[in-house]
Amino acid sequence: FNPVFADLPETVFETMSGLARKLGAINLGQGFPDGQGPDDVRAAAARALDTVSNQYPSMMGLPSLRTAIAAHYRHHQGLDLDPEREVMVTSGATEALAGALLALVRPGDEVVLFEPMYDAYLPLVRQAGGVPRFVTLKPPHFGLDEAALAEAFTERTRVVVLNNPLNPSATVFSEADLALLAEFCCRFDAVAVCDEVWEHLVFDGRRHVPLMRLPGMRERTVKIGSAGKIFSLTGWKIGFVMAAEPLMRGLSRAHQFLTFTTPPNLQEGVAYGLGKDDAYFEEMRAGFARSRDRLSAGLTRLGFTVLPSAGTYFLSIDIGDGPEGDRAFCERMVRQHGVAAIPISAFYAEGAVRNLVRLCFAKTDATLDAALERLSGMP
Ligand code: PMP
Ligand code: GLN
Repeated sequence: FNPVFADLPETVFETMSGLARKLGAINLGQGFPDGQGPDDVRAAAARALDTVSNQYPSMMGLPSLRTAIAAHYRHHQGLDLDPEREVMVTSGATEALAGALLALVRPGDEVVLFEPMYDAYLPLVRQAGGVPRFVTLKPPHFGLDEAALAEAFTERTRVVVLNNPLNPSATVFSEADLALLAEFCCRFDAVAVCDEVWEHLVFDGRRHVPLMRLPGMRERTVKIGSAGKIFSLTGWKIGFVMAAEPLMRGLSRAHQFLTFTTPPNLQEGVAYGLGKDDAYFEEMRAGFARSRDRLSAGLTRLGFTVLPSAGTYFLSIDIGDGPEGDRAFCERMVRQHGVAAIPISAFYAEGAVRNLVRLCFAKTDATLDAALERLSGMP
């Protein structure tokens, strides 16, 4: 008996974290921060274990959290969401993505995917019966281009999946890119599934612009967020979905048969956290930007070619077009130098780009310095 997903490779995150554990390597592969996240957010969740019911909460999420989500996005991104009808809590952005694709994609529908793409997208599209249409974004800018979009969109296009900021390339799409994409979505009557889990990690004075806010997109966007990224609590798996009511009706039906609900005390912790003042978000961004700069400067000093990182927890190094390739490079890096990283070809369906390696800088200075020490002599 051959299960449906049995032919898929193990996700590169698990493979590299497994190797890091086995070899005692410093793990700059899978994206998770050192540390425990904000004390007050954890304390709010701990208190809620005793003060809120531990039985099934409402399917759409605790009202306190849905209200906090709507208020948060109004304040930070100028979105006007009805917490009762347009906001839903999921068990991580991963569930939100699965639910959105299951709810929106019918067999034979075309789904536009931008490569590099987060590794969950393609298997979910295929399982829903969708036909992927790839747009390959190329280093170093990873920008959208009109000719490529014109080739990818057809009258069969149903959904486009946009990840902005983009993991793994750390790109933040320009407003011109977003406007171009919005125009295609409207022209071809497509729904945009916007994976915006990295929305608060945009550096250098830039700010995240949600695709949902562009003309024509309010009714055709499914916006997805993740508390794991906002609060450096990746194990919590609290996701949010925002969409106009006609879309949300389908999304909530998918959610009720995927996980149905999400642990109530963690929802309360996140509801508390989303109300934190602007200083928290500023300091978080500034802290991650400092870590980015530390790793980037250290790698540059060692002789690596470092690509710019405008957002996310990640930066990439360009290892050149030699015969080794990114996977072998990462194997050598973890086995011989004791530092785990992620080969970016894993984010391309056909491995179109093989010269980039992703490193996570969401670590303490001590961890970054220890990794740099181990990498000296490698390039
Ligand atoms: N989408 C992207 C682009 C991500 O990088 C991640 C996690 N790093 C997720 C989705 C999954 O988020 P969650 O942990 O909330 O399921
Ligand atoms: N999103 C994290 C990353 O890109 C890892 C998530 C996962 O392990 N699936 O590293």
